[in-house]
Amino acid sequence: MLCGTSLQPDCTTLKAHWKEHFQRDFGIEGSTRLRCDDGWELSLGEALFLLKSTNFQDNHYGFHPDFYEDLRWVTQSIRFDPHCSVLARARKSERRITLCPAFLSLSLVERASTLVHEGHHLQPDTPPHVPCHSGPYQSAGAACDSRFSFSLDDGAYSADVYFLVWLKRSAHLAQRQLREVQAGIDAIFPARFNQIPASERKRLDRLLAR
Ligand SMILES: [Zn+2]
Repeated sequence: MLCGTSLQPDCTTLKAHWKEHFQRDFGIEGSTRLRCDDGWELSLGEALFLLKSTNFQDNHYGFHPDFYEDLRWVTQSIRFDPHCSVLARARKSERRITLCPAFLSLSLVERASTLVHEGHHLQPDTPPHVPCHSGPYQSAGAACDSRFSFSLDDGAYSADVYFLVWLKRSAHLAQRQLREVQAGIDAIFPARFNQIPASERKRLDRLLAR
């Protein structure tokens, strides 16, 4: 499973990060050991490694985000619940992220994006999801964000897109991972936003074209 691309570490590196950083940084509950062949710890460890090891390149203002630190700052604990039926969920009052079995079948890029998404829910000012006005999730309860903006000042789906675009622009991605990034963006647009301001859409298209 660990196949040596720039974003996926070898087993020894991952185990060392798990022990020296991830367990402590995120208060990971219910496990002390990562196995390299299987388990939710491996799925989580790989995604955390991507967030920690990617060198996000400065934009023309000299700014680059630090998704690992942002996640660490808001998260008190991460745990796995074998019985939950969504991908993952965040509980702001406990600053806790719970991963569900479906998280394990996501691609590496999707898992990292999901952590960014759930971490964004733990930020104090993140607007909650709202019912979708149209599209495939119209009957799915609060499954959309009111609007898209290319920033971390809006809802959690905007944070997904923000992360995916930064990843695409910064990392040395294998072709397969580039496809995963594009698939992630395509899955969110236009299904997850009730409003996409033309200026923000234009900005996104400009960034993706580079
Ligand atoms: Zn969400």
